[in-house]
Amino acid sequence: MVKKTLGLKIKINNSLLNFIEIDLKKLEHNYYAIRSLLNPKTKMIGVVKANAYGSEVNSIAKKLVALGIDALAVAFTEEGIQLRNQGIKARILVFYPQTENFKLLISANLEPALYSKKSWRAFEKNILDQRKKNYPVHVKYNTGLNRIGFNPADSDWILNEIKKDAFKIKSVYSHLAASEENRPNEFSQKQLALFNEIMNDHKKNSKSETDFHLLNTSGIFNYPELHLDWIRCGIGLYGFANQPQWNKKLKPIGKLISTITQIHSIKSGETVGYNCGWTAHENTRIAILPLGHADGIARHYGQGNGWVSIQGEKAPIVGNICMDMIMVEIKNLPCEEGDEVEIFGTVNTAEAFADQGNTISYELLSGLGKRIERRILK
Ligand SMILES: *Cc1c(COP(=O)(O)O)cnc(C)c1O
Repeated sequence: MVKKTLGLKIKINNSLLNFIEIDLKKLEHNYYAIRSLLNPKTKMIGVVKANAYGSEVNSIAKKLVALGIDALAVAFTEEGIQLRNQGIKARILVFYPQTENFKLLISANLEPALYSKKSWRAFEKNILDQRKKNYPVHVKYNTGLNRIGFNPADSDWILNEIKKDAFKIKSVYSHLAASEENRPNEFSQKQLALFNEIMNDHKKNSKSETDFHLLNTSGIFNYPELHLDWIRCGIGLYGFANQPQWNKKLKPIGKLISTITQIHSIKSGETVGYNCGWTAHENTRIAILPLGHADGIARHYGQGNGWVSIQGEKAPIVGNICMDMIMVEIKNLPCEEGDEVEIFGTVNTAEAFADQGNTISYELLSGLGKRIERRILK
């Protein structure tokens, strides 16, 4: 339905003031850096769920396809359909497809992960209804993360089911709970042992060739001997790998820039922000930046925990973060209203900034709001 509007073109972002600069050359660097760690036969799934970790999924997906990625993966069916609507023809895995959307998923030629008998049966029904055969699916096992996945004890059931020809199992996979933790890690060892049994079961009893995969980004770095047939790389493509020595190989693709909209000179003893959250202990200056917790800069970054970079200098976020604004102390830094400020990027990486806010790069990046413009550098 086309809604009548007032005829105004509305651009729903504060784009001149806040933007994330996304550098596709850095994405390319990360792609090759990760490729270089892999056996040439190991294939790469580029994980682009949640708007490519909060960046801009259409440009990221197109670039990855152009670079030769073997498949893409999203969390939900709608995300896969968005990629198809962009003309992306690559294989697309859907990690958490909801049974309600199976029909759509099939019509968009997406490949589901089946993770329970219920999801299996529901998908089978859709395949039979649409008179399809040998539809490519992926089987997800729960080996200890206790998120989604078949119980390893279900492997006999699955192997019996695939004697029918509704599905073709393209791959069997699981997910580690602590892939970034130092080796040897007891919990990962247990998961590995279980996955080994699952692989053996499938190898012995499956009629067609099945691929196996286990590792996300940190796993790729931490378990070079376990790359298997595929790896599933998300955060690494965006420039982080959850350990400083691994991060060194990668380049963060995004920079979040904001603009000083107002500067106040305040006297010692004056307070800043809601609930008088911060008190100046000397005469100082405060700069106001037009983004806040509605844009993904959570309250944890306030109260001096997080800092932004102005002309390369640290300016701490003072007081409580508001919905649309944050206040930073700039003292005598040489800056004025209208100047750009780096919230994170080169001086303070997204990972370091996330840490200041008591979170991780994944949450910071994927939580960046729609009001922030995405600027793509090709
Ligand atoms: C998100 C996700 C990944 C990607 O993990 P990174 O740590 O970002 O590389 C891999 N596998 C599954 C099942 C996921 O949900």
